[in-house]
Amino acid sequence: MIPAPFDYYAPTTLDEAISLLQELGDEAKILAGGHSLLPMMKLRFASPEQLIDINNIPGLSYIKEEDGFLKIGALTKEAELEHSDTIPGKYPIFLDATKLIADPQVRNMGTIGGNLAHGDAANDHPAVMLAMRAEVVATGPEGQRTIPIDEFFYGFYMTALGETDILTEIRIPIPAAGTGNAYHKLERKVGDYATAGVAVQLTLDSEGVCTYAGIGLTNVNPTPLRAERSEQALLGNKLTEEVIAQAAQFASEDCNPSDDLRGDEEYKRAMVGVLTKRMIHKAMERAQ
Ligand SMILES: Cc1cc2nc3c(=O)[nH]c(=O)nc-3n(C[C@H](O)[C@H](O)[C@H](O)COP(=O)(O)OP(=O)(O)OC[C@H]3O[C@@H](n4cnc5c(N)ncnc54)[C@H](O)[C@@H]3O)c2cc1C
Repeated sequence: MIPAPFDYYAPTTLDEAISLLQELGDEAKILAGGHSLLPMMKLRFASPEQLIDINNIPGLSYIKEEDGFLKIGALTKEAELEHSDTIPGKYPIFLDATKLIADPQVRNMGTIGGNLAHGDAANDHPAVMLAMRAEVVATGPEGQRTIPIDEFFYGFYMTALGETDILTEIRIPIPAAGTGNAYHKLERKVGDYATAGVAVQLTLDSEGVCTYAGIGLTNVNPTPLRAERSEQALLGNKLTEEVIAQAAQFASEDCNPSDDLRGDEEYKRAMVGVLTKRMIHKAMERAQ
């Protein structure tokens, strides 16, 4: 199908893009990689009257460590994460996630900012960002504000971004020594959205006691979900098989999957348990 007609704008500065959002109102949409928005427009699930393409605005694509954060510009593409020198050492979780997203064509176009701004619980980066306690920088008419990731996703395809906000940066606290992270999703076939996915970040002290635990879940809840009871089960403990099993059990109990063509609720809960155990083990190995 072809989308409904729309007007196209290609601003070259952030200020210009924000002014357009103010002027055009709530029928205007930001266009980044277009790999979530355009399929929705073709299916007529979305029919924005105006598209504001932000790809001509310089300075929104970068991956760098600065001021205690890994900073990712909103227009950074999946493929750039895959090929960045900064990512493999402390952030292998991004390679785990990115390589499971669709196919190279999608990864050459899809942006990390768009992946979060879309607010889709089936996307993979939200769970990763929840596990890593990211912050999202939104720029609007009043300037910049920082939104903790725990406050970013608040409804089905809904985020804390206002109508005149542009997501400009994602900030991830640089992990302490002794940190490991990992992500995996179960998919029906290569390139599919997750049946269930689990992101884990852990920090272990010299005695092997867990001093930080972050666990995010993909596509098993109307919004991306942080498995807080599972995190609490790990914190302050040595990660024995019993402790890990308890965390996995909590994750499978606390998610809210629905029956669909990827599986029924019982199956998805079971898979969340299995993946949580596996990702805790993988994060522990990487923390060594
Ligand atoms: C075949 C296929 C398979 C896919 N499989 C997966 C998968 O397995 N896992 C996965 O995570 N994703 C998957 N995707 C989605 C893909 O990763 C998208 O590219 C991504 O979710 C959205 O990024 P985008 O840059 O394309 O955003 P767009 O499609 O341009 O925008 C998406 C939404 O976010 C808004 N937006 C975008 N950027 C900003 C910004 N900077 N500020 C404010 N609002 C903004 C737009 O207005 C729009 O509402 C798949 C896509 C396709 C086509």
